[in-house]
Amino acid sequence: MTVVEKHSEAGAETSFANGGQLSYSYVAPLAGPSVLGHLPSWLLSRTAPLRFRPSLDFDQWAWCAQFLRNCTASRSRRTTVELLQLGAYSRSVMHELMKTEHLEFAFSKSGKLVVYRNAEDFEGARRQMDFQAKFGAEQAALSPGACVSTEPALESIRDKLVGGIFTPSEETGDCHLFTRELARIASAKYGVKFQYGTRLHGLQHERGKVVAARTSVGDIVADEYVLALGNGSRELAAPLGIHLPMCPLKGYSLTVPVRDGHCAPAVSVTDLHHKVVYARLGQTLRIAGMVDMTPAGSREDATRIDLLKSQAQATMPYGGDYSSVIRWTGARPTTPDSKPLIGPTRVSNLWLNTGQGSLGFTLAAASARLVTATIRRRPAEIDAAPYGLSTRNLSSN
Ligand SMILES: Cc1cc2nc3c(=O)[nH]c(=O)nc-3n(C[C@H](O)[C@H](O)[C@H](O)COP(=O)(O)OP(=O)(O)OC[C@H]3O[C@@H](n4cnc5c(N)ncnc54)[C@H](O)[C@@H]3O)c2cc1C
Repeated sequence: MTVVEKHSEAGAETSFANGGQLSYSYVAPLAGPSVLGHLPSWLLSRTAPLRFRPSLDFDQWAWCAQFLRNCTASRSRRTTVELLQLGAYSRSVMHELMKTEHLEFAFSKSGKLVVYRNAEDFEGARRQMDFQAKFGAEQAALSPGACVSTEPALESIRDKLVGGIFTPSEETGDCHLFTRELARIASAKYGVKFQYGTRLHGLQHERGKVVAARTSVGDIVADEYVLALGNGSRELAAPLGIHLPMCPLKGYSLTVPVRDGHCAPAVSVTDLHHKVVYARLGQTLRIAGMVDMTPAGSREDATRIDLLKSQAQATMPYGGDYSSVIRWTGARPTTPDSKPLIGPTRVSNLWLNTGQGSLGFTLAAASARLVTATIRRRPAEIDAAPYGLSTRNLSSN
């Protein structure tokens, strides 16, 4: 098996400095019934956690139309159930993997506390918690005082909180380290060849089959080809007549050192009002958030990261050393219904494992297992149909 990667190591793109959440129970899609009410602030406010700057790009508008079609309560609930199923499966595959292999990636059984500053949002979260309980999610609603007892790093915003939802089974880890560790073990133990510094230019196809992958160092021939290129997947699939409805949704992160005297959270915290997550990863605190549909490399990025920093300093002033911040921008490869694209394509030996959006770390283990079962024509352990390209109506044009 050969992995083709344009960077000089694994995990150097979207998986590099993400929020570090393995949030198997927080999978509700971005598309939901509350979206329409929020649209004016997404378009107009510079400080909204989600920003949308319209462009003349037809594909972007087609994606937005699909996204809005997924905002009904019934679709959003169905997607939540399907993602909960994939999330639960991912947790079990991940635990199996961690038992078999020795992976060092600042993993922690941290639990996750989502805190609310607005009574209406908290009420909605309680309803979502009751709904998810029917599908096995174990969560508890906490008072503001109980939130601070669960995670003392929230002391500074105690007065602003109206409550929180705590999920003890959630976990955290460093996604970049995890990816590097996997690559190391796959290469050393299972003979996988990693061809770094190699760009994939296209897939040569004849009579409904891929016959070679065209790369910057020549053609690579294989029996089966898996497209797992994150935001690069769309461009590679298009010449084969496969339209992947994916859009890069930008987000930002800060990594700050945690030293003696700092009070970094041990529990993973999401501040829902700002849509910012906090995860302790070894001797650092990772702070990540915001969802922007703005052009790549836009000048606004620096302003957004400054905003993220000021929100973090106000929320967890003693969480880490904010004078020594590493800044990062990434883009989530996102489908309009927030479900990944896993499984076959119309090209018989080309398979998809992409489009995990804001849950790529969380869903990675399940996605890999599902695509492997499909390629080997073996029955999968969960129904793969909800995540297939052809089984849902998502064509982008
Ligand atoms: C701010 C932010 C916070 C996030 N937080 C979380 C979180 O807390 N938990 C979570 O589960 N998810 C989170 N995510 C989402 C998660 O990071 C992504 O879903 C995940 O990294 C996607 O993984 P991937 O392998 O599909 O893409 P990538 O990690 O981008 O990997 C694709 C690889 O393909 C390579 N590639 C692309 N095109 C080519 C080409 N033509 N030739 C050769 N190589 C190519 C790229 O270099 C890259 O290494 C977050 C994302 C962001 C932006």
